[in-house]
Amino acid sequence: MPKIDEKLLPVFEDVLRRNAGEVEFHQAVEEVLESLGCVIAKHPDYMSRALIERLCEPERQIIFRVPWIDDKGRFRINRGFRVQFNSALGPYKGGLRFHPSVNVGIIKFLGFEQTFKNALTGLPIGGGKGGSDFNPRGRSDAEIMRFCQSFMTELYRHLGEYTDVPAGDIGCGAREIGYLFGQYKRLTNRYEAGVLTGKGLTYGGSRARTEATGYGATYFVDSMLRTKGTSFDGRRAVVSGSGNVAIYAIEKIHEFGGKVIACSDSSGFVVDDNGIDLDLLKETKLVRRERISAYAEAKGAGAVYSEKGSIWDVPCDVAIPSATQNELTGKDAKSLVDNGVIAVAEGANMPSTPDAIRLFHEAGILFGPAKAANAGGVATSALEMQQNASRDSWTFDETEARLAAIMRRIHDRCAETADEYGAPGNYALGANITGFVRVAEAMQALGVI
Ligand code: GLU
Repeated sequence: MPKIDEKLLPVFEDVLRRNAGEVEFHQAVEEVLESLGCVIAKHPDYMSRALIERLCEPERQIIFRVPWIDDKGRFRINRGFRVQFNSALGPYKGGLRFHPSVNVGIIKFLGFEQTFKNALTGLPIGGGKGGSDFNPRGRSDAEIMRFCQSFMTELYRHLGEYTDVPAGDIGCGAREIGYLFGQYKRLTNRYEAGVLTGKGLTYGGSRARTEATGYGATYFVDSMLRTKGTSFDGRRAVVSGSGNVAIYAIEKIHEFGGKVIACSDSSGFVVDDNGIDLDLLKETKLVRRERISAYAEAKGAGAVYSEKGSIWDVPCDVAIPSATQNELTGKDAKSLVDNGVIAVAEGANMPSTPDAIRLFHEAGILFGPAKAANAGGVATSALEMQQNASRDSWTFDETEARLAAIMRRIHDRCAETADEYGAPGNYALGANITGFVRVAEAMQALGVI
């Protein structure tokens, strides 16, 4: 595996110094910088160190207080974040994560990744990310609404369809986007549909947006499998998580003829040898908002729930980690490889640790990095912005066809770039370089700003 080129080491040292303790951000920057040595070597005049230094520093970071009142009448305080990372290609674009683990380092890593991911889609969107350490678990609808209204009461002044366009992420789904949009509309007295994506269909949302990240990751894996002359047909898959990404990855894998035999949530995982029952999973997670253990109880025979061990010990051909960052360790990767996995694609953001990625590459299996494999969500957000701008609304099939074409194109670009830089099959390198070159060219053209 390449290490950071010595010309870029001072950049990384600066990132460490300026962002002390933000380990996830360091991890994301290191992974990208490791890929850029060969770009600098090939285009010394064109890819300057100063530019990369600028790329690692967010354009703007907003941190704010989010006061709200719970159902018992108690005052609560959370912290809100929006990191506007890079706007060279378009308005800042990226989700909002509501989860107790959220801090500025996590939002920064996500915003940094988002910048390259959005560039890879080929669409005119910059990179950003936001969220709060608010924990939605166990909160009533009314509490969620009051929290979202308070969050937007501060954030709205930094947003706009030409400025910054948030969407959802972990803990922020259709319900939250509805409350956020309602409050934005009320505060601004503008029906500015393009200011948020992931909206409901009745008020400016796009068909296939909900499904897009999971479907997109599956299209990406399908493209990788095709390069080896194979497909999902008859293959066993494991998809961690049971949120939007996982559920719709499972749906598409089943459509492609594969069988998903395990999924999970933060408390444990379910193995269902007959294949995950998608209707039951949707009912459990999306309608009832219950734990995955309730799926196993309802399914009965054939489904085994477990809180011990790792979902990655379940033998499979395809693995799609779709839960959260660093959920798949070197040990897990070894177990997957030993059990004969042929393809891994990241549905979540940075779910594989650096050790895991190294192992996948050494073992020569197909590895689709998050920036490429999960770009379908944000790509469809950009399609939602297009529909809002033209006051139009496309059919499900038309939107999905565009998503599929975007995913195939991302796959091909990553593969071509990997070939060009002498690392055939290294999608991680291909994604980092392709995303970087697009952002860097725009930044150079815009001057030092
Ligand atoms: N949160 C998603 C991501 O990580 C989607 C962002 C968006 O649609 O703006 O890419």
